[in-house]
Amino acid sequence: MDLRQIYSQIIMEQSNSHRHKHTLEDATATERGFNPSCGDDIHLSVKIEADKIVDIAFEGSGCAISQASTSLLCGLIKGKTIAEARNTIEVFLGMIKGEITDDEMLEENLGDAVALKNISTMPQRVRCAVLAWRTLDLIIAKETDSEMIEP
Ligand SMILES: [Zn+2]
Repeated sequence: MDLRQIYSQIIMEQSNSHRHKHTLEDATATERGFNPSCGDDIHLSVKIEADKIVDIAFEGSGCAISQASTSLLCGLIKGKTIAEARNTIEVFLGMIKGEITDDEMLEENLGDAVALKNISTMPQRVRCAVLAWRTLDLIIAKETDSEMIEP
């Protein structure tokens, strides 16, 4: 199996996964992410305790790319500090924009989310892939009273 097939398999599995898709009863912040060009519509919820994202989940619907990307984000971000989460968002957006191409660095920072790397060559799917990440960026900006990485 080549890398491209492994990547598509991760996206397929993640888009059907319900591990992180549920209501977060004790969420401290929730934001909606909407991508009108595709119809992806999610609600991302986090539970932040003392500068740490102790829990994260989402609800909503959308295409396979948006659902897989949101699920991957949740798995990756859970347990991270706000600063670590911010760094991870920055690396992910850099990968999707094609600005960061160092595979080793990407895998170290993004784990399975590196499966979305090829989206950087599909401009019409970029918004689907970044939706959850920009939504988390917004949550963090509001929580920390700071600017978004990508306003
Ligand atoms: Zn989409």
